[in-house]
Amino acid sequence: MRSQKKYKRVVVKVGASLFATDKSKLDTALVNSIARQISDLIKQGKEVVVVSSGAIALGMSILKLTSRPKELKYLQAAAAIGQHELMHVYKLALKKYSLNCAQLLLTWDDFLGARYINAKHTLGTLLKLNCVPIINENDTVATEEIKFGDNDRLSALVSILVDADLLIILSDVEGLWDKNKKIIPRVNKITAEIKSLACPTDKKICVGGMVTKLEAARIAVEGGVPCVIASGHQDRIISQLTNDPFSQGTIFLTK
Ligand code: GLU
Repeated sequence: MRSQKKYKRVVVKVGASLFATDKSKLDTALVNSIARQISDLIKQGKEVVVVSSGAIALGMSILKLTSRPKELKYLQAAAAIGQHELMHVYKLALKKYSLNCAQLLLTWDDFLGARYINAKHTLGTLLKLNCVPIINENDTVATEEIKFGDNDRLSALVSILVDADLLIILSDVEGLWDKNKKIIPRVNKITAEIKSLACPTDKKICVGGMVTKLEAARIAVEGGVPCVIASGHQDRIISQLTNDPFSQGTIFLTK
């Protein structure tokens, strides 16, 4: 196991389902809790990058839509409407702890060539400035995560981009269940058997599910970044996992 000091830079992925309560209303208490934990971690000398969904869910709420639009262009429009609200929510929550945040909208193309280097430099500089980068897919021009992933795979690519020590994927599930619905605490290798345990979650508000979470874990682990999947509803989960990633959920280990 790595020493605590080694988990210095963490990427935290916040899923859309965490943002919306049953009535598509924002869970403000959760956002405030995330902000408080980020502030505590920064005070401990850690660095936190957030990959957050929620633009479509918040856009749906602003448009008073109760079910997720089927047409892609409406999903993209909802994301464009919700994205600035998403940032506003983070901005207000982080401001209480005197922290600034920055918006980065990325697509898969940004992980190639010069754009990759530029994004890396920008993120490194933001972290030096004690600023919290909040990353989402650029939904207006890219649709991979809208269609399949709820930012799961994006968070894995980001964790490699920033040379993170840990990727924390927060969701409404507590981790990977075995066949008897017991959490598997650690996975040394993502085998076909492990993949067969993945199952989809409710698609009313968001996409994603264990299939894309496992795929994200595979990408992160192959890139040298251990990954934990855990419930975002657990109190102080980000602080706890950053200090001991074996304490909750399922950890996927690198070789
Ligand atoms: N980028 C999307 C968002 O922020 C991903 C989640 C989704 O497709 O619902 O809402």
